[in-house]
Amino acid sequence: MTKLPSHLRKIGQVFVDESMTGTPIARRVRERLAEGGRADIPWTVIPPDQDRVVFDQGDTQAIYLKEYKGRFLRFCPGTRAYHCCGYRIIHIGENCPMACSYCILQAYFQDRVLKVWANQDDLFRELADGFGADRNTRYRVGTGEFTDSLALEHLTGYSRDLVHFLEDYDNVVLELKSKVVDLSWMDGTTRTDRVLPAWSLNAPFINEHEEFGVSTLTQRLEAARTCAEAGFKVCLHFDPIIRFDGWRDGYAEIIDRIFDYVKPEQIAYMSLGSFRCMPQLNPIIEDKFPETTYIYNEFVPGLDGKARLLRPLRVEQFRFMVDRLRAHGMEEQLYFCMESTEVWKEVFGYAPKDFGGLGKRLMGRGFGDIGILSKI
Ligand code: SF4
Repeated sequence: MTKLPSHLRKIGQVFVDESMTGTPIARRVRERLAEGGRADIPWTVIPPDQDRVVFDQGDTQAIYLKEYKGRFLRFCPGTRAYHCCGYRIIHIGENCPMACSYCILQAYFQDRVLKVWANQDDLFRELADGFGADRNTRYRVGTGEFTDSLALEHLTGYSRDLVHFLEDYDNVVLELKSKVVDLSWMDGTTRTDRVLPAWSLNAPFINEHEEFGVSTLTQRLEAARTCAEAGFKVCLHFDPIIRFDGWRDGYAEIIDRIFDYVKPEQIAYMSLGSFRCMPQLNPIIEDKFPETTYIYNEFVPGLDGKARLLRPLRVEQFRFMVDRLRAHGMEEQLYFCMESTEVWKEVFGYAPKDFGGLGKRLMGRGFGDIGILSKI
């Protein structure tokens, strides 16, 4: 019997919509919980007239296999005030079993129930209509916006199904963004050029004090190396970059370690994003993570309504990191998540030409058009 991965061991309840009980996802979750020694977990069937579940049992987590009635393919909720990367989201579920103090999902969703959209037939139908309508239109998509792409993969096999489905769509590149290591999706595709495995990184101090239940930085970097050696381009993200005592040493250390595992040419792109905080998030962090101190830094309200570190302080951190990354041979891979023209120019010396510029550049890098779009 194989034990469940550590980040799934708090799961103690499964809810399933009555209409979803016979789906492949429901069958798999049941089998894999049993294989992990958790056949004892109670399953509750939710009748069709009930749209949500209430679950509050302390540390215990619940999965809800749900029939999703909304749109699966969406635009990322960026804002026109900052340079947005033009990413599309494939919505596969909501919430995450891990716990990072800074996680924006805490403010997005009112509960912590791990929702999985089990009506994959509907999702694949919508994607086929969207991606198949014009094969000359390219899409850069990801699943890691409202959940971690791979957190529930061990139970659901969702990403493996998705990469397998997308084999037929040469015009789509899929980013799988995670803080855990699960590479079981890899044998679901022959298209190493159309899947971008991605891991978020942070300074070791932030990883140790603010990220709980996640894989270690070394495990993430080892996984990135495994994928790169298998022929995939990988993405690495520094978001949120946090200001804390010793941030220079911390970010220098993790930046230097990256290149013990992967080469710059194996990295499709790397985002840098300073910690941003919706007003609702602050009291949640204070309450759930009382040891956290970075929320008391000097913040100003941004044009997107989120608090962000004072610009000179952001620029100081960005410059430090970009200089260090450039010394390792990184240049075209780097971009900012949600920053203004002024900050781009101050740090990189250039800015996206217009609000479509960054999206085009990342589309090119995602599809491997290296060299064609050298400048934004
Ligand atoms: S791993 Fe990502 S989605 Fe999960 S809690 Fe941390 S920040 Fe949130």
